[in-house]
Amino acid sequence: MASISLRSLTKRWGGFVAVDDQSLEIHDREFLVLLGPSGCGKTTTMRMIAGLEEPTAGEVWIGGRLVNDELPKDRDVAMVFQNYGLYPHMTVRGNIAYPLKVRGVRSTAEIDERVRAAAAKVQLEELLDRRPRALSGGQRQRVALARAIVRTPQVFLMDEPLSNLDAKLRVSMRAELKHLSHELRITTVYVTHDQIEAMTLADRVAVMNHGRIQQLGTPEEIYDDPKTLFVAGFIGSPAMNLVEGELDHGRFLAAGTVIAEVGGGTRSGVVLGARPEDLAISEPGTGSFDAEVYASELTGESVLVTVEISGRRIAAKADRQTRRAIGETVGIRVDPARTYLFDTASGDRLAR
Ligand code: ATP
Repeated sequence: MASISLRSLTKRWGGFVAVDDQSLEIHDREFLVLLGPSGCGKTTTMRMIAGLEEPTAGEVWIGGRLVNDELPKDRDVAMVFQNYGLYPHMTVRGNIAYPLKVRGVRSTAEIDERVRAAAAKVQLEELLDRRPRALSGGQRQRVALARAIVRTPQVFLMDEPLSNLDAKLRVSMRAELKHLSHELRITTVYVTHDQIEAMTLADRVAVMNHGRIQQLGTPEEIYDDPKTLFVAGFIGSPAMNLVEGELDHGRFLAAGTVIAEVGGGTRSGVVLGARPEDLAISEPGTGSFDAEVYASELTGESVLVTVEISGRRIAAKADRQTRRAIGETVGIRVDPARTYLFDTASGDRLAR
């Protein structure tokens, strides 16, 4: 078990900065998710922790040890990759046993016992004699997990481990992973661009963009209290409505139309954020503003009603019985307490 400390960590390739002076304290036994769009530097950060990539500057500490000069095998981390990285010529048993053998465990009885225990944790006992090519994607994923947990490393590093699975399997493996991490309680750094995966698995999420952490917090904090326009737009599905406009004595206007009384004085260059589930559909004239229905989509558990006003589209999540026709006028009720204001230019959240 170990904490991880990244201190002013930087990775440059020529003039390109992939990871930009990042500092991050990951607690012992914490499940920390690095979340961000493709190319934001998640994998590079993870590879520097593992020792697979040399930092241009900065320090990596694991369990109170500065490990910059330690080889990957000496850092006591176990990695799970997106493509699993299984040895095709070895059986499942051989793959799971491999980390024990390279670390010098000689006793066949001990290896057998530990392989069996790891396989049982991920429901692989029946498949120990198969080779990877005779397994489904989900089963291969389980082998990769079993290989990581067969010895108790100080740290797990997981790089998009679920992204090669189909949507349904991904959701069930996610729950298995959550259960497993609760059982094992080993410090884990998990890389994903999938915000639902981040929200469901993480103790804390570090949202990254352009090589920098934009916000670090619990899933609740990231969702309810986004500090920047980027975080607000990245977290949530359907995404938060982000409407450009201006404030006039506390009234928010989009292209001259009053959307809601939200406070915050008078200024131009403002983005109003409101999550679809925080907007309500009402009869015309009874909400914060009226608008025409652009689309109405039944998703199963709810209906997403998108309206258009002054060229801006705004989506509201309504209950599943809601039926609205395209072109119909509806009222949209905005709860000011459930809105966010951002500075258009800097993307920073504005104080109210
Ligand atoms: P993804 O989700 O697509 O894997 P990521 O956030 O993990 O993205 P990284 O793999 O860390 O992103 O890459 C960060 C940036 O560094 C990218 O723009 C990438 O093109 C660049 N990069 C990665 N490896 C190298 C390399 N060996 N040489 C030059 N640039 C690189």
